[in-house]
Amino acid sequence: MDNNCIFCKIINGDIPSYTVYEDDVVKAFLDISQATPGHTLVIPKKHVQNIYEYDDNLAEQVFSRIPKIARAIKASSPDIKGMNIVNNNGEVAYQSVFHSHFHLIPRYSEKDGFEMSFQDNGKNYDEETLVKIKNEISKHMGA
Ligand code: 5GP
Ligand code: ZN
Repeated sequence: MDNNCIFCKIINGDIPSYTVYEDDVVKAFLDISQATPGHTLVIPKKHVQNIYEYDDNLAEQVFSRIPKIARAIKASSPDIKGMNIVNNNGEVAYQSVFHSHFHLIPRYSEKDGFEMSFQDNGKNYDEETLVKIKNEISKHMGA
């Protein structure tokens, strides 16, 4: 437990939350912002700041629980047509709470208040550049 962490306080019950599921590994509760109705956060009970801090065991335990929470959210309303699962790491990637979490954002329509945009920059990359980027990532896979 990190005493300065808002999500550790939620896990501990010091801050109330609308908890939809909880076991010894994770807690799933409604995000206060409700980007769309049912917007839920899934967090490991162990305080890890970001995706880089998961060991294989924690990843297996946490990730394996996400589909059943997603299914429960989907089952909660016939209006839910899809779901975005988002995990922000680092301030530049919009992380504002530094206890790792996964946003499960049910989608009702294209104009339900949630947007994500991926630019297509593919035309700026030639074969040589892509191979270089690929190799740079691959060589660190053992780390
Ligand atoms: P991030 O921007 O780090 O990916 O997401 C943090 C999320 O935590 C935000 O969507 C924000 O609404 C949510 N959040 C921040 N404080 C609280 C809180 O006290 N209770 C709940 N339920 N959600 C919170
Ligand atoms: Zn924490």
